[in-house]
Amino acid sequence: MFSETDLHIHSTFSDGVMSPAELVMAAEQIGLRNIAITDHDSVDGVPLAAAAGYKRGINVIPGFELSVDWRGSDIDLLGYAVDVSQQALVHELNERHLKRLERVRRTLDILAKEGVQLDWDDVAAIGGEGAIGRPHIAWAMMRKGYVASVEEAFSMYLGQDYAANVPSDAKLSLPDGIALIHKAKGVAIIAHPYMPELPEYLDINEILPEALDAGIDGLEAYYTGYTVQRTAQLVGLAKRYDLIVTGGSDFHGGNQLPHCKLGAVNVPSECVAALWDRSSTGKPESDAF
Ligand SMILES: [Zn+2]
Repeated sequence: MFSETDLHIHSTFSDGVMSPAELVMAAEQIGLRNIAITDHDSVDGVPLAAAAGYKRGINVIPGFELSVDWRGSDIDLLGYAVDVSQQALVHELNERHLKRLERVRRTLDILAKEGVQLDWDDVAAIGGEGAIGRPHIAWAMMRKGYVASVEEAFSMYLGQDYAANVPSDAKLSLPDGIALIHKAKGVAIIAHPYMPELPEYLDINEILPEALDAGIDGLEAYYTGYTVQRTAQLVGLAKRYDLIVTGGSDFHGGNQLPHCKLGAVNVPSECVAALWDRSSTGKPESDAF
């Protein structure tokens, strides 16, 4: 059975393959009532989704996803119920985006000197211009036969101690990322607190103290592939620290995370009310509901 709620969806404004309006139509077809478009470093798709949602009776919660640095590793935050018209937010997200592209360019230059010849288009073909980053470079290296796997690309070229690991000034720290979301009147959530491919030490129990200090609001407890036990553990953790929980599929469409299907994660609709309760924006009057 499909859920009525999916709060983690990517559009063509980052690395998804469907436009915001197409996503709303697809959501309607499978009976979703609440969705959030959470593009990487961008809120540009939100007004388009909201307009399409208004016509079709689909509630669109404004959102975005932001990768932040935590002790030298990347973790993802989701910002919800943000004021997408806020210039400071839009400007900061544009900055992040440009810096991310610059980092990819510099990495490709270094790789070329190391004998790995990749064009911008090789990498963009995988990630799309919207959210291109090191994982897409790793994929491109594998496709061209320079390495046997994504892991090998990181362990031989892109990992922390290697030449092609260009230091990132594109990333905000975890507290700064949370502050950016709060300044935009939003609610800050740690996205998929468990990901199988992340190193073991990226344990939510390790991350939480600093996140709590910085005012984190919640955890994404419902996510593609999470077992009932995993979700129960995260819901329990959230309760203990007075955090809310959210959930979604991380749907991109196409070849990105093909196992993540729109609406296929059973997310309780109460998550939406909890989000608005926690936000300082409050549920908009003009909402479809
Ligand atoms: Zn995502």
